[in-house]
Amino acid sequence: AKRAGRSTYADFDAALNLEERTRRDLELDLRTAIAEGQFTLVYQPQVCLKTGKWTGKETLVRWEHPVRGRIMPIEFIGIAEETGLIIPLGEWIIRQAIHEAARWEEPHTIAINLSPIQMRNPNLVNVLTNAIANAQIEPERVEIEITENALMHDSEANVELLHRLRKTGVRIALDDFGTGYSSLNYLRAFPFDKIKIDRCFVSELLDRSDCQAIVRNVIMLARALGMETTAEGVETREQYEWLKLHGCSEAQGYYISRPMEAADAAEASGTSSEW
Ligand code: C2E
Ligand code: CA
Ligand code: CA
Ligand code: CA
Repeated sequence: AKRAGRSTYADFDAALNLEERTRRDLELDLRTAIAEGQFTLVYQPQVCLKTGKWTGKETLVRWEHPVRGRIMPIEFIGIAEETGLIIPLGEWIIRQAIHEAARWEEPHTIAINLSPIQMRNPNLVNVLTNAIANAQIEPERVEIEITENALMHDSEANVELLHRLRKTGVRIALDDFGTGYSSLNYLRAFPFDKIKIDRCFVSELLDRSDCQAIVRNVIMLARALGMETTAEGVETREQYEWLKLHGCSEAQGYYISRPMEAADAAEASGTSSEW
């Protein structure tokens, strides 16, 4: 505790430098990683609450760093967005996810996250339609996840893009619903196929009546607008049963399954004894 002021500041400074260095290292490594293909995709199942059967899987990217091991998206998606590297990385994710899903034993939906930066890529629709044509997958099996914040800027151009995407036959989900800005406006501007209710509402569902009120009403609102709902981050049986009882269409989360390695995802049906 002696000389606390000085050493605290020095520690802080050192930590900042380390963070800055780590970031710069990651940025440099990221370029190599994309060139060398150091990424893998894992897939998290989504279950239909009516039937108890798996209906889809969400694509989640992982970076297999040759020195640091597996790196989670929270550590590199932001850097990839700021550097524009999300464009080539995102294109690889689209092609790879669709390629793999076309070979799954079950014709589950393949959900793919789209970064707001990718929405400004004039080549996006082409990349998607080419991937679908090459893999010979039904476009209805492909679901694009977009966050509210992606729609915030230049929303007219974005709504137009969503319509162009929809014309290719893919489905469109509004991700992380309830965490961004002016959510209700987006529901009016574009007919999403699905609303994904953010984990923050689900995690406190059984403890908080305000979360229950919000989730109940999002489900009703979605239904009135002809949209499905997927609850994210379902971790307990109680949450699962509550959502089922209140008419949520689908659930996703550790209670159903952790994200699966590609080989396991390819064989997973979700109709076996687990249910
Ligand atoms: P997200 O789209 O909301 O994805 C769901 C995240 O929640 C995943 O984390 C998933 O592993 C985690 N999760 C699923 N079930 C549970 C649960 O029951 N409890 C808890 N605590 N967490 C759960 P992950 O894979 O680390 O991805 C984090 C975020 O990174 C994603 O959030 C998404 O925004 C982004 N991301 C992941 N993959 C991609 C990608 O391929 N492209 C883009 N643009 N973003 C991606
Ligand atoms: Ca997502
Ligand atoms: Ca989400
Ligand atoms: Ca989220």
